[in-house]
Amino acid sequence: MDTDFDRDHLWHPYSSMTAPGIVYPVSRASGTRLTLDVAGAEREVVDAMSSWWCAIHGYGVPELDAAARAQLDAMSHVMFGGLTHAPAIELGRRLVDLAPDGLDKVFFADSGSVSVEVAMKMAWQAHAAGGLTRTKFFTIRGGYHGDTFSPMGVTDPEGGMHSMYAGLLVEHVFAERPPAIGEPLDAWAEATTTLFEQHADELAAVIIEPLLQGAGGMHVYDPAAVRLLADLARQHGALVIFDEIATGFYRTGTRWAGDACEVTPDILCVGKALTGGYLTLAAVITSAEIAARVDASPAGAMMHGPTFMANPLACAVASANLDLLASYDVEARVKEISSGLTSGLTAAHDLRSIVDVRVLGAVGVLELDSPVDVPAITTAALDRGVWVRPFRNLVYTMPPFISSPEDVETITKAMVGAVEEVHG
Ligand SMILES: *Cc1c(COP(=O)(O)O)cnc(C)c1O
Repeated sequence: MDTDFDRDHLWHPYSSMTAPGIVYPVSRASGTRLTLDVAGAEREVVDAMSSWWCAIHGYGVPELDAAARAQLDAMSHVMFGGLTHAPAIELGRRLVDLAPDGLDKVFFADSGSVSVEVAMKMAWQAHAAGGLTRTKFFTIRGGYHGDTFSPMGVTDPEGGMHSMYAGLLVEHVFAERPPAIGEPLDAWAEATTTLFEQHADELAAVIIEPLLQGAGGMHVYDPAAVRLLADLARQHGALVIFDEIATGFYRTGTRWAGDACEVTPDILCVGKALTGGYLTLAAVITSAEIAARVDASPAGAMMHGPTFMANPLACAVASANLDLLASYDVEARVKEISSGLTSGLTAAHDLRSIVDVRVLGAVGVLELDSPVDVPAITTAALDRGVWVRPFRNLVYTMPPFISSPEDVETITKAMVGAVEEVHG
């Protein structure tokens, strides 16, 4: 593989072109295993990341491969303007079935960030229908909603680098990050309510990742905080947008993290695991009422339409992925992974560098007292047969749902062992 070309010409996520970090060539991915080239030698390692939380059924999944091949024989893509096709209809049906009751209007977007853009536009248009100009969104610190400008505007001001893009980002309203689950909520609830009331007239919607903030810091917070935010929104005529791009499809234990909070949003964004990590696809799902309000806005329609909207290949694979998800007891599977993560990560409590160990559903997190030495942890984990990709002060795993108890044990041992070796 010509890694010199890669180094000289290809950007990787959040990376420098002039001083790029190490990247490992992958030649194969199958089941829960990635075959990497580590210092010139081939090494098969256990995947702890599900390729940024997407590949819930692992790699080379026969059912998904078959769906992609069958769809290729029919058509890989046609425009969605003025045309429709079975893959979109079939996937739409499945999403309406899976979505919380009352959410049955589906907009297909081509990535998570774009789905958040669309959700925010929907909220804006829904208010415009009533002659209102509600330009602000209310959210909590520590969130992550994507890398395009509107999602970045509601992403944590530091994590989203708001100061760097000052002038380009709309300033939205940020409450403090809710306390970690199990900690008292009262002071946060009071301050958040006051802040909300100060801005109530200009707020289009509350937008949050319910229960678990992902890329913003793997923070698990109280379902009561989610309920409070939704209640505030509803008292003041703002909408509720749940970004379940990371949490959806059972990652946190229930089908939607919103289920565990007992809140149904007005607008739901899904992505990541939707196609099982095969192709990029996301969706925005809303109610008939919001759809009607959007149509009653001056534009008269939802003003968004990506070139690759409802790409048939992606839709066909997504349907096969959701069928797979319906073919076994996912909640039981996630519980099993969860208990494996809990018992495997307990040992980390004894490490000097560890300040918190948390597990929610099929998510296991080690929080360190300082920024992770990413290259060193990566190498130490690879030496223990595992691919992890830490960020900030977090070494975490979101393993594929097909991970065996042995895979989970390998992952937790590698995480704890790598942290002990590098950070003590
Ligand atoms: C990954 C993610 C996004 C962005 O999705 P992309 O497909 O990378 O654009 C948005 N919100 C959340 C919660 C995510 O985890």
